[in-house]
Amino acid sequence: MIPHAKRITGYKYWHSVIEEGAKMTRGIRVHAYGGPEVLKWEAGAVGEPGPGQAKIRHHAVGLNYIDIYHRTGLYPQPGFPFTPGTEGAGEVIAVGEGVSEVKPGDRVAYAGVIGAYAEERLIPAHRLVKLPDAISYETAAAMMLQGMTVEYLLNRTYRVGPGTVMLLHAAAGGTGLIACQWAKHLGATVIGTVSSEEKADLARAHGCTHTIIYTREDFAERVRDITGGALCDVVYDSIGKDTFPKSLDCLKPRGLWVSFGNASGPVPPFDIGILSAKGSLFATRPTLATYIAAREDLLASASAVMDLVLSGALKIAVNQTYPLREVAQAHRDLEARKTTGSTVLLTAA
Ligand code: NDP
Repeated sequence: MIPHAKRITGYKYWHSVIEEGAKMTRGIRVHAYGGPEVLKWEAGAVGEPGPGQAKIRHHAVGLNYIDIYHRTGLYPQPGFPFTPGTEGAGEVIAVGEGVSEVKPGDRVAYAGVIGAYAEERLIPAHRLVKLPDAISYETAAAMMLQGMTVEYLLNRTYRVGPGTVMLLHAAAGGTGLIACQWAKHLGATVIGTVSSEEKADLARAHGCTHTIIYTREDFAERVRDITGGALCDVVYDSIGKDTFPKSLDCLKPRGLWVSFGNASGPVPPFDIGILSAKGSLFATRPTLATYIAAREDLLASASAVMDLVLSGALKIAVNQTYPLREVAQAHRDLEARKTTGSTVLLTAA
């Protein structure tokens, strides 16, 4: 029996209110931070969309490294239980008062709004982007978060273009394979680091110019060799703890260190003097949320990704799919560095 009108705190978008007779949906809830075992498959009620909200039925949900930070508490959530996942694609099934961006029946996708590991959810309609018919739900769920991330990193955090020499860690990952292709399209020289020979082959097949296997080679020394001592204009570092401070040794004087992730753990606190000692370096710690906060930026960034996908210049490598309810295994594989390219979680829809 569903409890009558029970409000569940910390539950913003699905199961926000459980009402008697409300249609049940299923998804993942986390009741305490921890390993993949804290991802519990449960039933709840979505409720109807309030003002400015849309209700969507997911066909595909994106898996991203940030989901692990949410699960472990590295990026704390306001309360428990919560539903992780920040990216999805599906159809609009209802809209609340005042919604003009989408209507029932629209095919849509989004990134950056937590609560995606569910069959249905409520979401602010202004965070949704309409999908062209030629882009499948699966591709959309794989490309929104990682694609828009690459868009802002290469176009707006640093302006990558012909002549740019860049170092990209985790070049065969989801964000990595998109970045390799996009940077090549822009005319850059991409030096990519990976953990294995197979991943090196994959990165090169997606446009990476030079690969370094950083589990057995000193990546800073190899960057020096590859560039003939000239080093890089920009380093894109999503590894964090394990690649700091060596990533800084790969930069030219006045180069830019873009620290955008923590796959190995967070970068420790450091003395800002290191930036001066290593050549008047610049450093930034960007997040997609800031770069798509305004709806016009969200739409421009999503369009840039979609245009490249539709033109064929960018292929989204969905190299793993899992049923949504088996997301715990997907987390294990992502953390164990077993995945390449993007991973999508499929609902029964
Ligand atoms: P990936 O598919 O790139 O998977 C992570 C990869 O990181 C692994 O495959 C592995 O590649 C590498 N890695 C290195 N050290 C470790 C380690 N200790 N444990 C696990 N993996 C490790 O994931 P995503 O594309 O989803 O994300 C990549 C990174 O980008 C993450 O750090 C994520 O947080 C960040 N990100 C940041 C955004 C932002 O706006 N700031 C937005 C999107 C992503 P290998 O085996 O080759 O070492």
